[in-house]
Amino acid sequence: MDSQFVTDVSVAVCSESGTRTSKIYCANCINCKLVPSNPDGDDRYFLRVRCTAGKWKKKNGEEKVYKYCTVARRSIYSCDAYEAMGESSEFIRDLKNSLPVKDELFIF
Ligand code: SF4
Repeated sequence: MDSQFVTDVSVAVCSESGTRTSKIYCANCINCKLVPSNPDGDDRYFLRVRCTAGKWKKKNGEEKVYKYCTVARRSIYSCDAYEAMGESSEFIRDLKNSLPVKDELFIF
């Protein structure tokens, strides 16, 4: 798992002010986009999410994408490119209820 993401706490403590801050869910950000991925080049594809602000990187610098079924886990303490699409907690709750439980294969 990528260490930049928070998975097991609901609040963080801001190191500068000492105040508690809510975490940011990437799924609620306008830069988090759903894209098809067909690595075999045929008519089958998986659903992936990517950050169009270029914030998700592998150690070698390449762009990192994540399985759609894991998108609700992508959260961070802060991001200078975060643009909220709405109220976060209600959106994430509904998203968690609607996400597939595993990676699914689709046909174009
Ligand atoms: S811009 Fe920041 S908050 Fe938005 S999807 Fe990318 S990493 Fe997440």
